[in-house]
Amino acid sequence: MKTDINQIIDAIKKFRDERDWEQFNDAKNLAICLNVECAELLEVFLWKNAEDVNIKNIKEELADVFNNAFLLADKYGFDVKEIVLEKLKSNELKYPVDKSKGSNKKYDEI
Ligand SMILES: [Mg+2]
Repeated sequence: MKTDINQIIDAIKKFRDERDWEQFNDAKNLAICLNVECAELLEVFLWKNAEDVNIKNIKEELADVFNNAFLLADKYGFDVKEIVLEKLKSNELKYPVDKSKGSNKKYDEI
């Protein structure tokens, strides 16, 4: 089943608005919060082998990352699908298949 990103964003905003939290959600705080949640995701992996991590914790922290990323995108009126697909196109130019397939080199090294 495909999920409409805008349905997700609407649900996040409903949760936020019911609590009157938009006042705390300026772009700077959302960017900081996004980074904090990324750090919490990293913490799930800290000192563990990747196969030993708690999957439930990964899901929860990943959801927190998405929540903040979507709110930040919404703050600027970005269309998430559009900006992700645009960046993918840009990355396709940076990493042409014939030069990057099977390689982990950065675009300026290929
Ligand atoms: Mg978290």
